[in-house]
Amino acid sequence: MDKLNNSIDRSWIDQCNKPFIISGPCSAENEQQILETANRLNPSYVQVFRAGIWKPRTKPNNFEGVGQKGLEWLRKVKKSTGFMVATEIANAEHVKLAISFGIDILWIGARSTASPFTIQEIADALEGENNKIILVKNPIHPDIELWTGALERLLGKGIKKLGVIHRGFYTYKNYKYRNQPNWSLLLNFRSLIPRIPIICDPSHICGNKEGILDIAKKAYHFQYEGLMVESHCDPDHAWSDAQQQITPENLLEMLKELTYIKKCDQKSKRYLNLDSFRILIDELDENIIALLAERMKISKKLGTLKKSSDIAIFQPNRWKDIMKKSLNLGKSLGISEEFLEGIFQLLHQESIKIQNQIR
Ligand code: PEP
Ligand code: MN
Repeated sequence: MDKLNNSIDRSWIDQCNKPFIISGPCSAENEQQILETANRLNPSYVQVFRAGIWKPRTKPNNFEGVGQKGLEWLRKVKKSTGFMVATEIANAEHVKLAISFGIDILWIGARSTASPFTIQEIADALEGENNKIILVKNPIHPDIELWTGALERLLGKGIKKLGVIHRGFYTYKNYKYRNQPNWSLLLNFRSLIPRIPIICDPSHICGNKEGILDIAKKAYHFQYEGLMVESHCDPDHAWSDAQQQITPENLLEMLKELTYIKKCDQKSKRYLNLDSFRILIDELDENIIALLAERMKISKKLGTLKKSSDIAIFQPNRWKDIMKKSLNLGKSLGISEEFLEGIFQLLHQESIKIQNQIR
């Protein structure tokens, strides 16, 4: 990891004396949409215009991007606005085409980062393109090794202008976010590669417009280098990710509300302060509440089954067994027995109450 950390070329982001903002639609749809969105973005705040040309979709039969013709539209944006332009690439063919159209920044999507064969193919295709900026999104699942492995594969082909995009992680059940931020993983990732520039993508974390500002504030608190936010000239009619896209004007309002502290600012070096711990605790508390809700839902189903099978609600042996197993696990994790016993008493009481209500 030291080699990776020491080899990263940060010049592309260090020369930017403010947060590095990437914005533009989830997908390029037509030339007019691309040009209008780009023209409405404020160049005093935004450095890079983004648009997906090839869209990796989880399910078939969704809009999968306009393909090569979108690169022409991005070239026009670059020429007419002066923005740098960025798009997602997912194979060697995409790399060749994007480079031939002068795309400045190529990003690797979350689904691609999860696949070492795909990453190797992209890295091979990039060999010799030492001037391109490559941003690697976190893999969809929280695997730091896959993420750093992707960076190592790119570095192995001489690509040094690297950065990463934090877009959150898939969880089986989503209560609050489309993709859970997992700030604690990000802090661990950064302690492994402190020099890597990190851009936060609140749009794909939230999956809605409402949460974007809060996530962006947290990213600024942790002194990320910038943001990637999806914007669209007509968000409600976007062909992909309509729920999470905002207008360029809403983006500007949001950016004005944020206070940016540069990472190299000496006074703010201690980013793991009180607020940082509170962000980590809040995320864990949200997870605990989501798990409790899930547990109570199953308890309710169990209550219905017990009723129809005429089984008593309270089963002393099962209860003893749960308590014993839980206290053992807690002990191995260093949790006080008294505390855990109290929590499980409460859980059990609540379960019994819910099941009694069904009777
Ligand atoms: C995107 O940026 O539009 C995208 C597809 O993102 P992700 O790879 O994070 O899902
Ligand atoms: Mn999107």
